[in-house]
Amino acid sequence: MSVAKNSSAKILVSACLVGERVRYDGMVLVCKDRLLEYWQQEDRVLAFCPEVAAGLTVPRSPAEIIGEGDGTAVLQGFAKVINRDGKEMTERFVIGAKKALEQVISQSIAFAVLKDGSPSCGSSYIYDGSFTGVSEAGKGVTAAFLEANGIRVFSEHQMAEAAARLTRRVKNA
Ligand code: SF4
Repeated sequence: MSVAKNSSAKILVSACLVGERVRYDGMVLVCKDRLLEYWQQEDRVLAFCPEVAAGLTVPRSPAEIIGEGDGTAVLQGFAKVINRDGKEMTERFVIGAKKALEQVISQSIAFAVLKDGSPSCGSSYIYDGSFTGVSEAGKGVTAAFLEANGIRVFSEHQMAEAAARLTRRVKNA
């Protein structure tokens, strides 16, 4: 399963997917994935949490995107990020997205594997802003920002596709 140990291709991974206690509720996410473990052993994984990088605490009030659209709309100024206490968090989430891109550029990251459903990291779905557990198709702010800057974002449910991309990248290196 290991590919080209001598390749330096790195992968940005949501820190919560590799067991870091960065989630809003302070809980550890159980995501045991053999590929992620291999990539960690190969020193490919850069664990990163855009919300913590933007200065948010653990635990913190959960946030959702409200208004028409998803993270792309937030970046365009058409939607906002609000936490469950009603406080606007848009600026923090945009800061986190920019810090993620800084890491991608400075660490020569090949692509990202981010936790789906998050208002920052979600790549196929997010929650609808009602704080009632209703999901809808869309991207979080960081995922949207990375993809707008040409960085492919996979979710934790797309590990095989991510591995195929890594293999292609290593072969073409
Ligand atoms: Fe995980 Fe991303 Fe949420 Fe941080 S912002 S806890 S990395 S899903």
